[in-house]
Amino acid sequence: MTLAAYSMRALPDQLSGLISLALDLRWTWHHGGDQLWRALDEEAWEATHNAWLVLNGVAVEHLQALSQDPDFLTLYQEQVSRHEEFTRAATWYSDSCNNKLDGGIAWFCMEYGVSESLPLYSGGLGVLAGDFLKASSDLGVPVMAVGLLYQQGYFRQALNTAGEQIEFHPYNDPTMLPVSPLRDSNGEWARVTVPFPGREVRLRGWKGQVGRCELLLLDSNDPRNEPGDRGITSELYSGDPEKRLQQEMVLGIGGWRLLELLDRKPALCHINEGHSALALVERAHQWQRSQQTDFEVARFATRATNLFTTHTSVAAGFDRFPRALAALYLEPWLSGQGNRLENLLGIANGGTSDLNMAGLALGMSGRFNGVSRIHQKVTQTIFQPWFGRWPTPDIPADYVTNGIHTPSWDSPESDQLWTRACGKDRWRQPMLEPEPMCDVDDLSIWEMRRSQCRRLVGYLRKRLHAQHCEHNYGSNPDAACGLLLDAETLTLGFARRFTAYKRPDLLLKDPERLVRLLTNRDQPLQIVLAGKAHPKDKVGKELIRRWKAFSQRPEVEGKVVFIEDYDLAVAGQLIQGVDVWLNTPSHPWEACGTSGMKVLVNGGLNLSQFDGWWAEAWNDQVGWAIRPGASFEELALDGSHDDSDARELYELLEQQVIPEFYHLDDKGLPGTWLQRIRASMDQLTARYSANRMVREYVSDFYLPMAAQGNERTPEIAAELVANRKNVCRHWPKLRFGELTEQTGDNSQTFSLCVYLDGLGHEQLTVELVAEASEFGPRLVQPMAMEHALEGSEDSYLYRATVPPRPAGHFTPRIRVKDARLNLPLEDSHILWYR
Ligand SMILES: *Cc1c(COP(=O)(O)O)cnc(C)c1O
Repeated sequence: MTLAAYSMRALPDQLSGLISLALDLRWTWHHGGDQLWRALDEEAWEATHNAWLVLNGVAVEHLQALSQDPDFLTLYQEQVSRHEEFTRAATWYSDSCNNKLDGGIAWFCMEYGVSESLPLYSGGLGVLAGDFLKASSDLGVPVMAVGLLYQQGYFRQALNTAGEQIEFHPYNDPTMLPVSPLRDSNGEWARVTVPFPGREVRLRGWKGQVGRCELLLLDSNDPRNEPGDRGITSELYSGDPEKRLQQEMVLGIGGWRLLELLDRKPALCHINEGHSALALVERAHQWQRSQQTDFEVARFATRATNLFTTHTSVAAGFDRFPRALAALYLEPWLSGQGNRLENLLGIANGGTSDLNMAGLALGMSGRFNGVSRIHQKVTQTIFQPWFGRWPTPDIPADYVTNGIHTPSWDSPESDQLWTRACGKDRWRQPMLEPEPMCDVDDLSIWEMRRSQCRRLVGYLRKRLHAQHCEHNYGSNPDAACGLLLDAETLTLGFARRFTAYKRPDLLLKDPERLVRLLTNRDQPLQIVLAGKAHPKDKVGKELIRRWKAFSQRPEVEGKVVFIEDYDLAVAGQLIQGVDVWLNTPSHPWEACGTSGMKVLVNGGLNLSQFDGWWAEAWNDQVGWAIRPGASFEELALDGSHDDSDARELYELLEQQVIPEFYHLDDKGLPGTWLQRIRASMDQLTARYSANRMVREYVSDFYLPMAAQGNERTPEIAAELVANRKNVCRHWPKLRFGELTEQTGDNSQTFSLCVYLDGLGHEQLTVELVAEASEFGPRLVQPMAMEHALEGSEDSYLYRATVPPRPAGHFTPRIRVKDARLNLPLEDSHILWYR
């Protein structure tokens, strides 16, 4: 690493603005500057789409010449002033949020997929994080993201002739990544340390600019660190638990310390996944130091403004560290703060003695949410163990359905079409037109589709040619190089991580049936596939191998192609060009899924399992669903549906998708297909955008949470903790007395005696609960305190009148009441009558 790479001594003065243009990753979605980078070095720009790399590679003489070239200077000046305008412009946030979040949102995630030129991601979670940042920039929401700068990122993939995955770990030269060293207020390179066993690990700060938002990154590759420690931030998801814990310490503890060093005072901390739970602990430590309190008060004071988003669908997906490992690594840090691992385990404990990071995140947060409507229910189920005897429907998990950053995923053709339909600024504000595509004629939509498909075929040929020449010596070079692909043929796309739950092999269940579809002379099909399998996922690798073997069968050769090294760039091409995007995960593993959302803006259609986002998006106008309308309960039933799902998939393709695509109306266009595209674009594009997602987080979480946080002063936090201690002391002695029931004409009245052992009745709520049955939906009815019982201290009579059901259907319960708390998350005491 040489600092010379950042000093840009060679840059002529009049072109100095190129540095901030090149370092603003806005060029990944806003293409106004493309011409500028092309003028600097067309070949490097086309090959890398990394403006910073382009700028660093330009010869001094060329820059000198450009600084004298009036055409270039005009182009340059225009970009510089547009960029200045952009940074000053009013935004949705500045117009409608009264600056209530001006301290900023500290946003933590293990991976970020902003651009293929900044490869710090492996898949869905990272891409979502990147899209979240970009949409926050569009809306002006002051998000400061914190992450790790991996020297190698996730592995890169190739396949050998046998279809076996080969893994590469190319080194990310940080001077060529579009980030710069982060400077503190004195202009020094920002560095923080994190206590490790017997040493301090030094971390260096980096900064990525994502439009109006910052992406703050840490790496441990400081030459003064122990050799082993320098590699903590080497790769993403290596599978080694010790390294994983080290990374989470760097991200969480180091990340929060970095914010502190930069004197940031975030209004809120939002963590994506439990990986960064330690940030919340370090935040409490910082508060504890500044307010001179104990940890418990600090926890209650800060948690109101901590939001935990979970993307996990099964409890096995939570990060867990064996107690001994956690003790070895965390004690040096905790003891420095007067804290103990026992304490964290108590907060995190969901019935195990391991350190469960999701549990810790939950215990440090004021609210938590899943990422689709169905995932909310899944989340309630998998987090239930943290809530004692609370029934699943009462688990306070919210949800915000994920979305994608539309301007990052639209094609040049669809960009034009949308601009025609609803103007330039359409993605920067809530969409107003209910049916933007209704005025766009069939021919324009169809021409956009075919043009996108032609470009995809061209791209696939280029990629396949390169793959072929590297190592895949198939029998038929034309097929291997994509020359048999056809832009008029119905193209099905499937690209995602290859792992068992995603069922990439569902379409291979009946290979002969698939062969018939692919080789139909009049209505043919072609398939493009991509995806990596985690290096330790043997099953996933086998799935890739099976597809590769199938694609080499002589009768389908050239009609089924596998593009190696799936990343943002490959995804961007596929989702623009394919006609139908296929997704077939098995329930409940896919929390939301986002790749299918990326085709919407481009007029691609979805054929997908009725699960995740598609379960809320699907109707029979917009696409096709496997097991449409299945309820959460039906989906949750055990048992494999692979065979019946595969049958449904074939039937949908044979009876609906393929005939509809090839059926031409009297204008010679596939009218029904186009109507479906229009419905999908109109109904779904705006709804499944990151723009909508970020606005939901702001309105439903950030703003109300910040307001609650303001009310939680140090005094109130201390009072809440004291109350809680009191509740803990008395709770074991609470008792129910007699329960009586009186049936009226059209109602029944329950009376209940309770003994509260010194807890004030205003601190508690007594409720009658009836579960859903043939007598009606679930009912939770508060009981009114009528009067104290004479003759016995701390005893009260409660009463409630409810619609009639068999008396045994109602069960009373007692829980804590305090409008200042988020319940039952912040106090899950509950006592049932039986
Ligand atoms: C969108 C995207 C994903 C997420 O896809 P899912 O189908 O939701 O799993 C993963 N990887 C890349 C490169 C993507 O662009």
